[in-house]
Amino acid sequence: FSPWDDPGEQPLIEFRNISKRFGSFIAVDNLSLKIFKREFHALLGASGCGKTTLMRMLAGFEEPSEGRIFLEGQDLTGTPAHKRPFNMMFQSYALFPHMSAARNIAFGLEMERLPALEIKKRVWEMLSLVRLEGFAKRKPHQLSGGQRQRVALARSLVKRPKVLLLDEPLAALDKKLRENTQLELMNLQEQMRMTFLIVTHDQEEAMTVADRISVMDKGKILQNATPGEIYEQPASRFVAEFIGDINVLDGQITTKQQRNVRIFSSVLGAHLDVRYSTPAKVGDSAALAVRPEKMRLSLEKPEEPETNAIPGEVWDIAYMGDVSIYHIKVAETQTLRAIVANTSRLVERPITWDDQVWLSWDSDAGVILTR
Ligand code: ATP
Repeated sequence: FSPWDDPGEQPLIEFRNISKRFGSFIAVDNLSLKIFKREFHALLGASGCGKTTLMRMLAGFEEPSEGRIFLEGQDLTGTPAHKRPFNMMFQSYALFPHMSAARNIAFGLEMERLPALEIKKRVWEMLSLVRLEGFAKRKPHQLSGGQRQRVALARSLVKRPKVLLLDEPLAALDKKLRENTQLELMNLQEQMRMTFLIVTHDQEEAMTVADRISVMDKGKILQNATPGEIYEQPASRFVAEFIGDINVLDGQITTKQQRNVRIFSSVLGAHLDVRYSTPAKVGDSAALAVRPEKMRLSLEKPEEPETNAIPGEVWDIAYMGDVSIYHIKVAETQTLRAIVANTSRLVERPITWDDQVWLSWDSDAGVILTR
C-alpha cells in the first residue's frame, strides 16, 4: 500500500512544523511528518537526534515549543496524554510482578470497567496472537525475557490503540531474540492492521520492520522513504553512511546527458560513469558512492561496457563467515571496500593480500551524492 502516491489521502498522524526547545537547546527543529494508517514507521537516528522527544510529544508527555500535531485532521494541542488513543511501550516494559500474564494484559480493560466476559475474550485473543496461551497463569519471573516482551506487547495492544508507540522496545534482548521479535512485531502489525511507530537507533531493525523510515539527525528528518529507497537512493551523504557501508569518492561532474553522468575523481585521476537521476549540473562538485557488495574484484581488467574499472592493491581482508570484506588501496589516500561472498566451505583465496587487482562496478550500481 502506498498512500504516499495519493496527495489527497488524509494522514493518520501529522506533525506540522514541530519544534521542541529545552532552554536554548533545540531537540526537534521545525519538523514535519505524515504517518498513514496501517503504516509501520521507524524514527531512526543516533542517540540525541530527537526521536524520543518527537514520540513523547505525540504521546502527550511533552508539549511542543512550536507547531501542531494532528490525529485524523484533529489538532491534538491541549489533549492530555491519557485522552490520546495511543499506547506507548517502553524499553523497560515494567510488568506487574505479582500478577499473572493474563492479569497483566487484562489490567487496562479492568480499569475501564469492561464486562468480565468481554475482558476474558480479549485477553485470550491477545494471548493467542502473541502465542502465549499456555503461559496465561505464569508470573513475570516465571517467563523468559522474550515471553515477558510478548506479554508487554499484548498489554499495549489489548486496548486497541490507534497507534502503538514503541520506544526502543527490543534494546534489552540479545541478537537472536531481537531478530525473532522483530518478525513477530511485523506479523502482529499485519494481523491487527494497526499503525506502529517505532523509535530505534538500530538501522538493521528499522530496515527489517518498517514500511517507511525517517532518518533523523539534529532534530530534523533527512529522508523519509521506504527501506529500499533509503538504501539504494540515499538523499545525502549522512544517510548513505548511516545505513550500511558505502564507498564515497569525491569529484566533479564533467559531462551529463539525462541520467548518464560522468564524474572526475581527482584522487583517482580517473573518469567514472554513473547512471543516476540528479539535479547536479556539469561543473558541480559531487560524490560518487557505491555499496561494497556492488563492487567486483578480478585479477584481469574487465572489458565489459558500462563498467568502471580501477586498479588497486589488496590491503586487508576481513573474514566474516558468510562474506569477506576486501580493503583495496586505490590511491595513496584512498581505500575502497568490496564484499565477496564465501560460496565454498573452503575459503580459497584466488585473490589475496598484496595482490594487484581490478575493482569494478556497473554504472547502474553507483549513486550521486550532492549533499
Ligand atoms: P536516545 O536514543 O539517546 O534516547 P534520542 O534521539 O531519542 O536519543 P531525545 O531523547 O529525543 O534523543 O533527546 C534529544 C536531545 O534533547 C538530547 O540531546 C537530550 O539531551 C535533550 N533532552 C531531552 N529531554 C530533555 C529534557 N527534559 N531537558 C533537557 N534536555 C533534554
